[in-house]
Amino acid sequence: MNKSTIISEEKKYMMSTYRRYPLVVSRASGKYIWDEKGARYLDFFSGLSVTNFGHCRPEIVKAIRKQAGKYLHTSNLYYTCPQVQLAKRLLEMSIKKGKVFFSNSGAEANECAVKMARRWGRAQRPGAHEIIVFKNSFHGRTIGTLSATAQKQQQKGFVPLLPGFKQAVFNDLASVKKLMNKKTCAVLIEPVQGEGGINIAGRNFLEALQGLCRKNKSLLIFDEVQTAMGRTGKLFAYQHYSVKPDIITMAKALGGGLPLGATITTDIVAGVFSYGDHGSTFGGNPVCIAASLAAMKLLNKGLLDNVNKTGKYFFERLRALKNKYPLIIGEVRGLGLMVAMDIIESKRNISGRDFVLKCLEKGIMINCTQDKVIRFMPPLIVNSHDVNTVIGVMEEVLGGREGHLWIKK
Ligand SMILES: *Cc1c(COP(=O)(O)O)cnc(C)c1O
Repeated sequence: MNKSTIISEEKKYMMSTYRRYPLVVSRASGKYIWDEKGARYLDFFSGLSVTNFGHCRPEIVKAIRKQAGKYLHTSNLYYTCPQVQLAKRLLEMSIKKGKVFFSNSGAEANECAVKMARRWGRAQRPGAHEIIVFKNSFHGRTIGTLSATAQKQQQKGFVPLLPGFKQAVFNDLASVKKLMNKKTCAVLIEPVQGEGGINIAGRNFLEALQGLCRKNKSLLIFDEVQTAMGRTGKLFAYQHYSVKPDIITMAKALGGGLPLGATITTDIVAGVFSYGDHGSTFGGNPVCIAASLAAMKLLNKGLLDNVNKTGKYFFERLRALKNKYPLIIGEVRGLGLMVAMDIIESKRNISGRDFVLKCLEKGIMINCTQDKVIRFMPPLIVNSHDVNTVIGVMEEVLGGREGHLWIKK
């Protein structure tokens, strides 16, 4: 099928839930994606922080092939070695002692956390079922996790939602204090809000939040679906702070490019579930687990050092770009290689989406969230040369001959 047929048949046969960019992917390798005509794109989005180790990383592909030749699926009613190995590895990387539940996605990892929080609350005191979430959060698209997603635009038209989620303001402890009471069983937070526009939790805020939770016997749940797996320069974003969450959820890059979710918790919290309380037919699929185990081997100190070094360089270059275009570029912020650049809202400016599209036409893939936040999440293997390429393209789009694009016709 040629490009225009694919685009028109997609419209005809698929639900229009995604506003796609006009690019047909034909293959991908490392930091690059090629379209159907053979044009190459530098990927600074990693399929939403999924392909953190680069596309088709040979070590991961090899592990997938090997496992695919053994067995593709076995019911979770039987034991498999790779699941046990990965659970052990995840605990070593995070809270050391505890338990893991495997699922297939971020939303499912959070659903598991919400169910555990409810059970936990019930065991503390009758009626403790409320979960405090934060404005501009994103926790998934199932009805449960959508109810936890404090964004009007996402929830619009899906009422009645799951009750029991209270919305506090990110980085505002007083707003949490107002909502926390005997009914609160948990607080659910992204240490760095991803879809909400790369908003980084303050050190004092998170540490005080943990104090509040402990005092109230409420669980502190970190949604690290987007931030884990080295994205922010540490294995998990919470490791930038001196806090220890009671539950961590992860997905996205966990499966090395394949769908895999995990919910990690302490032994005591894991005790709320017994046989039959939770499950998933596909959860912890052996091929996805094999890919994840291969990915874990790549997630070493050298890679994390690269995230911090390249992230720092990227940040410096973006700051310089902001100084050069102060009327177009607002705040620049980020942690490791989870980086954002605000486009200043002004009648003269084109939208964030248009900016992304212009960059795509020039061979780089970046993203826009919240209409005006340009988001960069390159594979963790990028270097300063790749950063220069992206900055160069953005400069061409911002200034140069395209300068007139910034004025609405
Ligand atoms: C992407 C994301 C989710 C949802 O993950 P899915 O795999 O799409 O269900 C949940 N939380 C955060 C922070 C995310 O970034």
